[in-house]
Amino acid sequence: MKLRYLGTAAAEGWPAVFCRCPHCDRARAAGGKNIRTRSQAMINSDMLIDFPPDANMHMLTNNIDYSAIKFLLITHPHSDHFAPLDLAFRDDAYYAHNLTEEKLILAGPKRVIDAYENYFGRFSDERRCKYITPMVLENYVTYEFGDYKVTPIRANHTRDENNACCYIINDGSKTLLYLHDTGLLYDDVWEYLENNKIKADFVSLDCTFVTLPGSGGHLGLDTCKITADMMREKGIADENTVFCVNHFSHNGGAIYDELVPIAAKDGFLTSYDGMEVEI
Ligand SMILES: [Zn+2]
Ligand SMILES: [Zn+2]
Ligand SMILES: [Zn+2]
Repeated sequence: MKLRYLGTAAAEGWPAVFCRCPHCDRARAAGGKNIRTRSQAMINSDMLIDFPPDANMHMLTNNIDYSAIKFLLITHPHSDHFAPLDLAFRDDAYYAHNLTEEKLILAGPKRVIDAYENYFGRFSDERRCKYITPMVLENYVTYEFGDYKVTPIRANHTRDENNACCYIINDGSKTLLYLHDTGLLYDDVWEYLENNKIKADFVSLDCTFVTLPGSGGHLGLDTCKITADMMREKGIADENTVFCVNHFSHNGGAIYDELVPIAAKDGFLTSYDGMEVEI
């Protein structure tokens, strides 16, 4: 399984849109991997996770054929993960000719599909449904998307359970745990992982707080470490499992160049925009 991180920042980007804090200024000056855009990832060349305001730029900078994407999984409807405007242009009447795949399945928690339906309510059913098939996903149900098995698990991110999920994604040989956005995992998530004997090859962890203590609906390096240790203890991870931290807020301080050695001490890879890993 190939995983490519397209955007690795929290909601405001890093440098953040209007910010002149020292962490944003350092990222601007250093450039390269220190520049982070809003959260999105790609699995192989046919699955996307999230569709942020920077999705179009990710298509350009990574030279991706978005029309070849068959499955678009959305974690939650926060605007840094789901900005539906550009989905209106997946329509061969005017905007998108010679689509590689005619249909795109748009799948996510109920509130994501509600947001999509609200946004596209002004289009006729015929136009709206021809190219994009919306699909509500329930937590702890495993869905088959082509060769992938995808299981949403409850995210500790918002009060509304129908609003946010994390994903277990298996492509037939490898298992990815994509844990964005979430704080410390709920007991029912741990139970699901243990009871279903999930063995992770790669774990992508929310690290919004970076070197500050994690709290609420996000993690920091401290709580990423607690999560990784618990996974090893419970047999969900072993010595071959790769842990990578991702989704960073400028308020957390350490830009990419500074974070890499700090995170490595705790056994974490540090994501950057455009990073590709073979799982
Ligand atoms: Zn986010
Ligand atoms: Zn800033
Ligand atoms: Zn969020």
